[in-house]
Amino acid sequence: FRREGFSTIPNVKWEDVGGLDFLRQEFDRYIVRRIKFPEDYAEFGVELETGFLLYGPPGCGKTLIAKAVANEAGANFIHIKGPELLNKYVGESEMAVRTLFSRARTCSPCILFFDEVDALTTKRGQEGGWVVERLLNQLLIELDGADQRCGVYVIGATNRRDVMDRALLRPGRFGKLLYVPLPSPDERGLILKALARKKPIDASVDLSAIGRMEACENLSGADLSALMNEAAMAALEEKLTSTGISETSRTIKTSHFERALRKISPS
Ligand code: ATP
Repeated sequence: FRREGFSTIPNVKWEDVGGLDFLRQEFDRYIVRRIKFPEDYAEFGVELETGFLLYGPPGCGKTLIAKAVANEAGANFIHIKGPELLNKYVGESEMAVRTLFSRARTCSPCILFFDEVDALTTKRGQEGGWVVERLLNQLLIELDGADQRCGVYVIGATNRRDVMDRALLRPGRFGKLLYVPLPSPDERGLILKALARKKPIDASVDLSAIGRMEACENLSGADLSALMNEAAMAALEEKLTSTGISETSRTIKTSHFERALRKISPS
């Protein structure tokens, strides 16, 4: 159960994220260990960015990583969708932004996650863009108040870095840019393994080999999740329609993945 704009500690673990090791290392240095060992960071006088922008194609794990970072750090997580912030609070958008940051401060350490953050920044200067303009200005004020922001980390996510207002990408704002790419063939195998953690996969199935198959080319993490679901459905249907004379199968097999692959294409 999640209410928009309220904090929770997400239940996504690093094991749920396939691949993306580089990002994991970056977030470990920049957020997780900083929250866990604040005295050490202070002792060495290390100053690091507190604002991040994850960009890249849809469905490749931006939201998932942000949640895993919060879980790993034992931090609260506030999930806010750019377009919702804009639509829900027309006329009181500055207030909404102020409230969000103050809520984040009271439950720090906290990660404030702005999904589809480009929605807040694209229409500046255009006709009818005054709501965005005011919201953006308030957002910049809050982001620049980094000194008072102790324990609050801001992560934005977008598929459209190109349309983002440059002012937002400066250091101290969403200053550290991190690309979240489509998975490579080997990473597809790792994602399938992460997705398989809670599924009865037959011991004979080679998920790395499936990830490397040509049929998996250009599939995103979200597509692979759909593939896993289709394969599970195929196994389930087979079990439910079997007559009971033969030993009923209770696992997901390679043949189920092959059947699922015929239904899935890159989104
Ligand atoms: P969008 O840009 O559309 O918001 P996103 O990059 O935030 O997408 P997520 O919402 O994190 O993508 O991913 C959607 C789903 O796809 C996840 O809930 C998960 O099931 C699966 N997924 C994506 N990437 C990965 C990954 N690297 N490892 C495991 N699962 C993944």
